[in-house]
Amino acid sequence: MPNLTDPLSEDESTDIFDKLHEECGVFAIYGHPEAANLAYLGLYALQHRGQESAGIASSDGRKIYCTRKMGHVADIFTPDVLNQLPGDLAIGHTRYSTTGDTVLLNAQPLSVAYSKGQIAIAHNGNITNAGEIRRDLEAEGSIFQGTSDTEVVLHLVAKSRERTLPGALRDALLQLEGAFSLVFLAENSIIVARDPHGFRPLAMGRVEMSDGRGAYVFASETCAFDLIGAAYIGDVEPGEMVIVGPKGLTREHYTPAQNLAQCVFEHVYFSRPDSLVFGRSVQISREEMGRLLALEHPVDADVVVPVPDSGVAAAIGYASESGIPFRQALIRNHYVGRTFIEPSQAIRDFGVKLKLNPVRSLLEGKRVILVDDSIVRGTTSRKIVRMVRNAGAKEVHLRISCPPTISPCYYGVDTPSQRELIAANQSIKEIERFVEADSLGYLPIERLRDAVADTDKRFCYACYTGKYPTPLIQIEELAMATKTGC
Ligand code: AMP
Repeated sequence: MPNLTDPLSEDESTDIFDKLHEECGVFAIYGHPEAANLAYLGLYALQHRGQESAGIASSDGRKIYCTRKMGHVADIFTPDVLNQLPGDLAIGHTRYSTTGDTVLLNAQPLSVAYSKGQIAIAHNGNITNAGEIRRDLEAEGSIFQGTSDTEVVLHLVAKSRERTLPGALRDALLQLEGAFSLVFLAENSIIVARDPHGFRPLAMGRVEMSDGRGAYVFASETCAFDLIGAAYIGDVEPGEMVIVGPKGLTREHYTPAQNLAQCVFEHVYFSRPDSLVFGRSVQISREEMGRLLALEHPVDADVVVPVPDSGVAAAIGYASESGIPFRQALIRNHYVGRTFIEPSQAIRDFGVKLKLNPVRSLLEGKRVILVDDSIVRGTTSRKIVRMVRNAGAKEVHLRISCPPTISPCYYGVDTPSQRELIAANQSIKEIERFVEADSLGYLPIERLRDAVADTDKRFCYACYTGKYPTPLIQIEELAMATKTGC
C-alpha cells in the first residue's frame, strides 16, 4: 500500500487503470419477444457500472436460460449467444469486483433450480449482513458455490416455507440488511425490489411495441431506457417489490421505507450524466455542484479545465458561475482498455499519459482551474496536476465537486480502506501539497445537499461523514460483504 505522506514512486502509485469500478448495473424486461436483445442493449448502456463480467438470463415460460462471462457486454453477447437466450422475459447484470479466482462463479445473474422451480437473480448493492446469514445457513447444511453476497438471497428464497415466489422473496428480503436493488426472473414472472433505505437506484419504464402491446422494463439508470426507446415511468420505491407476470403488474411495499439513504455518489460520479437517478438529472446535479463550488472557492484564473469525463459537468457549472472560459484542455483516449499490453518494462509506466493528453496550446502560460469529481487516494490527481503543469500551466488550482472522502462505503461503491483514503489521514493543506496544486478547494457537504436538491434528507453521505445510516456488523463480515458485493 502506498504511503500517502511520502512522494510515490511511479511504480508504487495507482494509475488510472487501477481505479476500481465496483458496483453493478441491473436490467429486467417482461413481455417483449426480443427480451434478451433488449437486455443486451440495456446492459450496453450500463457498461460504465461494471466492466468485469456480464450476464443475461431469459425465460420462454418453461425454462430459464443463462449466459454469464468475463468481459465487456459487446464482446460477450454475440448474435449466436443471444440466440441461445429465447423468450419474452429477461434479466441482465454487469459487474466489476475484485474477488480473485472466484470471479466467474460470482458473475451474475445467478441461476438455480429449487423445489418450486427455476429462478435467476441479479443484484446491485451490498448486503451488509450477508456473512452472518451465510454462516447460519452453512451451519444448517447449505452449500455455497461462490462468495457473493447475492447467493444468500437464493438460499433464503429456497428455504422459505412460503408457497409462492413473491411470498418466499418477501421472507428473504426481510432478513437482509444494507443495500440491494434486485431483479429476479422466474419461469413466467419478473420480480424486482429495492431495500427500504433506497441506497441504489432502480428505475421503471415501458416500451411500446408496434402491435399495441407494451413491455415493462427496469434498470439501474434511465440511460438504458433511452437506448431501447422505453419511457421512464418512475422509480421502484424504497421497500417496494414490483411483480410482473401473466396477471399484469402489481406493486407492494414488502416493508415500509425507512431512513432514506440514496447514494449521493451516484450523482457525484458513478451514474451517467444523461441518466435520471432517483428521479433527478445527474447532469443538472453535477453542473450545480460546479456552480456552488465556484461560489465557495473562487480563484482568479484564465481557464476552467475538466478532468474528463468525471469532471466535465461540474467544470461547465464552475465556468458559467465564475465567467472564466471552459476549455477541454485534457483529451481522453476512450479506447484504452484493461487489456492494454504494456510493451516493455522500460516504458511500462505510462501512468495517466496513456489515457489523458494535455492540449499544450490551451494551457501554456495559463492560470488553470482544474475540476474533478473526487479525490480518493490522491495519486491520479497528482499525476494530472503534474501533467497540466508540464504542459506549461503557470498555476494549477484543483477544485473537487464533493466533500473530502473520509470513509469507505459499505453499500456497494468501491472505495479503498480508510488507511488509503488520503482525506481520512491528511488535512486539506496537506492534500494540496501532496497533489502539488497551487490551491485546493472541496465542495462543502451542505452545498452538495443543495446541488442534489436534498431538502428532506433522502441521501446517504456516509463516505463524507463516516455516519452510516444502518447498523453495521462485525468488521470481518463487513470485509467479506464489501469484497463480494456489487
Ligand atoms: P485518486 O488518485 O485515487 O484520488 O483518484 C481520483 C479519481 O478517481 C477521480 O478522477 C475520480 O473520478 C475517480 N474515482 C473516484 N471514485 C471512484 C470509484 N469509486 N471508482 C472509480 N473511480 C473513482
